[in-house]
Amino acid sequence: MWWTGYAARGSGDGMELNELLYTGKSKQIFATEDPARVLVRFTDEATAFNARKRAKVADKGRINCAISARLFEEVGRAGVRHHLVRQLSPTDLLCERVEIVPVEVVVRSVVAGSFARRYGLTEGTRLPRPVVEWFYKSDALDDPLIGDDALLALGFAEPWELAFMTQAALTTHRALEQLWDRLGVDLIDAKYEFGRQEGRLLLADELTPDGSRLWEQGSGRPLDKDVFRKDLADLSETYRQLHARLLGGPQAAGGA
Ligand code: 5GP
Repeated sequence: MWWTGYAARGSGDGMELNELLYTGKSKQIFATEDPARVLVRFTDEATAFNARKRAKVADKGRINCAISARLFEEVGRAGVRHHLVRQLSPTDLLCERVEIVPVEVVVRSVVAGSFARRYGLTEGTRLPRPVVEWFYKSDALDDPLIGDDALLALGFAEPWELAFMTQAALTTHRALEQLWDRLGVDLIDAKYEFGRQEGRLLLADELTPDGSRLWEQGSGRPLDKDVFRKDLADLSETYRQLHARLLGGPQAAGGA
């Protein structure tokens, strides 16, 4: 396989790994030989409701790694600078090392989730234009909604960063919406994160069905983490189907 050379260095086959820098809810970040780059490993963990619900989901790490790699490639083509350098193994991406901006940018095309609850709206209503919302990244506070002014006053981002992230998130969202639309899937909303590296901002974190809502056109069936949040179906099988739409046959989730 094309990543065999890398595996000898440390992709979890009993080889020595570099320092673990950070363990997230469904990813681990390792240092690499290059101080400017990190290895992002996708795990099979699924969490919801700020990790109050959790489970292991077969093949989730491989599937989300492959989906994320493909989607970063797509948004790169649309002109958005991002942190992905290349895929190293079925579960690992080599990425630029960034300092994550402590806000999540949510872009919504269709009413769903917390937006529906907050404003008493019916899920599924298409918005006349994409809505951008900001959430302060804090597990202790359950990621509260934050306004532009508070975000700037509290120093979470500079004014130019706010403007940059707004435009980059909208460009990213439009590119992904078009891609999914060609595959018979509606991108309802998604969460994006950015990171700082040497004075510039890169789209970072992951682009996966864990952080977006994707509904099958026609049926409206969710093909994203809401399946797990609401116990709608088998998450592993759902993600396999989504992966097959994006990248081809059932073997493509890592090939092994
Ligand atoms: P909502 O605000 O409706 O709960 O979420 C809006 C969108 O952002 C959904 O696609 C949801 O999956 C994503 N999202 C919001 N917060 C988080 C988060 O903390 N983690 C992940 N993975 N996705 C999030």
